[in-house]
Amino acid sequence: MLARIKEFLGMETKPETKEVASEEEVEKVAEEKPKPRIGYIHLSGCTGDVMSLSENYDILAPLLTEMVDIVYGTTLVDRWDIPEMDIALIEGSVCLQDEHSLKELKEVREKAGLVVAFGSCAATGCFTRYSRGGQQAQPAHESFVPIADVVKVDLAMPGCPPSPEIIAKTVVAAINGDMDYLQPMMDLVGYTEACGCDLQLKVVNQALCIGCGTCAMACQTRALDMTEGRPELNSDRCVKCGICYIQCPRSWWPMERIKQDTGL
Ligand code: SF4
Ligand code: SF4
Repeated sequence: MLARIKEFLGMETKPETKEVASEEEVEKVAEEKPKPRIGYIHLSGCTGDVMSLSENYDILAPLLTEMVDIVYGTTLVDRWDIPEMDIALIEGSVCLQDEHSLKELKEVREKAGLVVAFGSCAATGCFTRYSRGGQQAQPAHESFVPIADVVKVDLAMPGCPPSPEIIAKTVVAAINGDMDYLQPMMDLVGYTEACGCDLQLKVVNQALCIGCGTCAMACQTRALDMTEGRPELNSDRCVKCGICYIQCPRSWWPMERIKQDTGL
């Protein structure tokens, strides 16, 4: 099974155990190396991220059942008290008027080794902050903030929702301590360029756009159309997920850096 997962993900996993092992050997290995415990916490969002986690590809089910233990999660685990866990996947932004969510978020932070802002609502606030794209935030459109505004976040996994492949690869990378894969997600904690207008202002208007179309392909609400080789934003469709800016190959090349490098 691990070979199939490895092949699907195209990345290294832990060495496989022997095909035939005695019960004692298996128990010994399990005792020495318990499976990482993963929790899923849902705050304010549309649950699209957990749908991506649990339903899209059959590969995720064996990955999540064979390589990790899911110890906490609404709709996933029948448990109400928050246990200790190695990785917490937190979906949704946090509403500052919602005392229960604030308490849950802070308790998870205390009990989790690694906190992942799972999806754009948790990472940037996404539609809960702006209520665009036909989606309405619940319980009310008030003060929603990214979770990094309230607790320390270790990794940000933006996406509306993140793809099943990114979820699977991130879980495996976290298990394996693959820092090369995780570094960009560490860099995205506290990220604020979460709007199609940032792409317009900071890439297109700075003459950095090369017309590759990556942003329009990445936009899941089709808020961007390529017109005469440049992305054109329909702001009514933008849910502020930030993916277009993250995926743009020129967004990481700001004008300040170019001036600094060229001495202009
Ligand atoms: S234009 Fe699309 S990809 Fe970019 S922030 Fe808006 S919804 Fe997200
Ligand atoms: S991804 Fe960046 S460089 Fe490519 S078309 Fe969009 S704005 Fe231009």
